[in-house]
Order: sequence, then structure tokens, then C-alpha cells
Amino acid sequence: MRRSRGWAGLEWAVVPDSPPSRPPAHHVPGGFTNPGLSAPRTLGDLLRWRREALGKTVPPPEAYDFPLCPNDPAFLRGNGTTPTVTAKPTVTWIGHATLLVQMGGRNVLTDPHFTARCSPVPWAGPRRAAPPGLAVADLPPIHLVVISHDHFDSLDRGSIRLLAGREGGAETVFVVPLGLGPYVRAWGARRVVELDWWQAADAHGLVVTAVPAQHWSKRHLVGRNRTLWAGFAVAAPGFAFLFCGDSGYPGDFREIGRRLGPFDLAAIPIGAYAPRWFMGPYHMNPEEAVRVHADVRAARSVAMHWGTFVLTDEPLDEPPRRLAEARERAGLKADAFRALAHGETWVLA
Ligand code: ZN
Repeated sequence: MRRSRGWAGLEWAVVPDSPPSRPPAHHVPGGFTNPGLSAPRTLGDLLRWRREALGKTVPPPEAYDFPLCPNDPAFLRGNGTTPTVTAKPTVTWIGHATLLVQMGGRNVLTDPHFTARCSPVPWAGPRRAAPPGLAVADLPPIHLVVISHDHFDSLDRGSIRLLAGREGGAETVFVVPLGLGPYVRAWGARRVVELDWWQAADAHGLVVTAVPAQHWSKRHLVGRNRTLWAGFAVAAPGFAFLFCGDSGYPGDFREIGRRLGPFDLAAIPIGAYAPRWFMGPYHMNPEEAVRVHADVRAARSVAMHWGTFVLTDEPLDEPPRRLAEARERAGLKADAFRALAHGETWVLA
């Protein structure tokens, strides 16, 4: 037996000397790919989208007045600190893909974004249309942070620094896809686990499994798909949660549901889908999100990745309207798949 070095320069498996190991289909030299996607978008497509956008008016963040739901940080703190499954499972939508999920007496944060812009610099780039629905100072102790990929709306340096630097932050476990560990470590995270798709880790008693997403990665001017993108299934005694990350459809959602479902709660993206010819492979729309809800076998789903940053051409308040229509057409009850207000907590009885 020997340790094998994977394509990304990381140890990914213990393999016998013979026959030689074969990397998973999403590993390619120098990075990663979407095995099921035939025609990835090119730089030419990006330029065409920006050129066509010149003739359109996309409302700016100031055009919206999203209601901020008052939350109850004292309840959240009390609910999450006792390691007992009798604590009530809750989900709070903080904004964009940032959710606080309380399960099995543990507190989980997804794609934490608490700063003013999703951008490499603080003075330019998409601004928030609504403040974070819960401030970092009001969060309960965070046991687990999962980060889906390296885009600026998901991997935010300022937010990682705040979380790692707060009281108890040294105990927070950051679980990230392959290649993102150096970022979060450089920003102060002490306990960091990098996972490949279908690999699992333990974080304060939660079992975290990275799952495939149909997306891409890029953070710097040069290089693309050098780090991995993923969703995460998180299991506690009596409660299973799926964070889909950022993904197009159909991806591997049926396989995720088959292997790790059913889920008590799934967080599914519903925004950043227009124009379809360009965004389709990487961002699902609300109709596809309703299909994901069924594919992964979720009892309840919460909408995310909408209402916070103007990233694409659809109005920021359109996704929940289309979600409601798609939900009705699918014969689902309103509380099977909810779009919460910023800051709203849903107690999952
Ligand atoms: Zn993304």
C-alpha cells in the first residue's frame, strides 16, 4: 500500500501498488471539472453576456426595500448550546447563501458573508441590497462552517476573519472543498478540513459529507477550476441537512438523495439564473430548485442565493415569486419550500 498524490497535489486515497489508481472523473490535471457537463461556458460567452447586458436595465441594489425580520439571538444562543437532540432544529436566513442551521444541539453556518460587498476589494463590486439578517456578534457559538467554493459571494475573507477571531472561534471547524484550506487558514481558521466529493469528516459530532455540485471556481485573474466546488450533507442524531451550494441542474442531486437522503431540510439556491443561455449550466432557476427538492428527498427546503447581491440579470425580488408558482404547480404546500425574509428564523417542529 502507498499514499497516492492526487491531481491537485493532495493526498486523496490510500491505494494498493497495483493496479494503478485512477482519479475520480471530476479530477483533471491542474484542477477539476464537471463530468456531466458537455459545453462549459467560455470567455467569449462571458463577453457576449456583458455586451447584451448593455442594452438592458438591471435594477441596482437601492431599488429594493427588503423587510428585515427581527430575530431573537437569545433564543438562538440558548437553543444551540446544549448538546442534546431535544434542542429545536431551526434555520435562519442571514442573506444570500448564508444560513444558520441549528441541529442536534450544534450550530452550523453556510457560506458566511457578513461584509458590505462580494468583491476582492472593499471599494468596488456588488453591494448588499439588505444588511445581514443576523450580526456576527449575535451568532451563537459556531461549531461548523461549510464553504461551497471560492467565488466572492461564498468565500469572504472579512467574514472568515470575524468568525475565526471571535470568542470560541478557535473551536469552529471549517469544512471546505479541495484547495480552499490555504485561504481560510491564512484568514485565521485553526481547525480546517478539506474534502473531495463523497468524502466525510466529523465536526463536533456532526458527520459532514461533501457532495457534487455543477459549478466552477475562479478567484484570480488567471486560472479557473483549480479549486473544487461542492455542497455538504450534514447529519446529526435525528436530523439530516443538505446545503446544495451553488449549482446548475440536474447535477448529481438524485444520486445525493439516493446515497444520503432523505433530508429533514435542504437549502437550495433559487437566484442568479438569468440569462438562461449563459447561467443555465451553473445556476438553477426556481423551477429547477423545486425539482431538486424532490430529487434529494427533502421533507422541507429553504431558499437561498437570492435577494442580496445583484449578480445576474433577473430582478432580485423575482426568484421567490417564481418559486411560489413552481411550488404550486408541483402540488407542494407553502411550508414545504419556503423563501424566508432576511433575518427570519424558521423553527422546524
Ligand atoms: Zn459561484
